Amino acid sequence: MIVEEEVPPILQVEHGIAGWDIRLIPEGLHIYVHRPLYTHHGIYIGDGKVIHFVGPKAGPTRACKKCGFSRNTGHGVVETCLECFLHGGSLCRYNYNVPRMILSITSHTMCPNCTTTERSKSGSEIVETAKEKLKEGFGKYNLLSNNCEHFATFCSTGTAFSQQVKHTAALAASPLLPPAPLLLMFYRNNI
Ligand SMILES: [Zn+2]
Repeated sequence: MIVEEEVPPILQVEHGIAGWDIRLIPEGLHIYVHRPLYTHHGIYIGDGKVIHFVGPKAGPTRACKKCGFSRNTGHGVVETCLECFLHGGSLCRYNYNVPRMILSITSHTMCPNCTTTERSKSGSEIVETAKEKLKEGFGKYNLLSNNCEHFATFCSTGTAFSQQVKHTAALAASPLLPPAPLLLMFYRNNI
């Protein structure tokens, strides 16, 4: 389905944008894709390309015919085609600038990991930062303290944070769930 209408900037809190015409995806949008037990994040830079921060064993085993990316060609901050970023998953958008009141009313219908009251920079500033980090790197990948979401939130706001890690830590502390080391086993080498 192609969405023709303009997307309201503030109150648009839904995440799924898989039906969007690719030409409607704004440059600098923080996008993510759901995996079974985690989400992978990146910055859409236009022209069907994404800059994202990947761990050493992430990505397809064979080099992509479109962008050349594979788990063997590189890790860290990479630029790939949208298809490599999605890797078969469904495209979603991270929501910034969501008023606290809206967040509290709708939290039961939204993924709390991917909705925030933090303000995002302009699309052009976000793309500029992502491209800078593509050249400079983003430090050593660390699942808990420096992952793909930290990269995308840093580009978007100037401050790195991961709601995924925060909420996973809270879940891991729950007596109803397996202990943290077991949960983290699923995350390792995947984000
Ligand atoms: Zn590719």
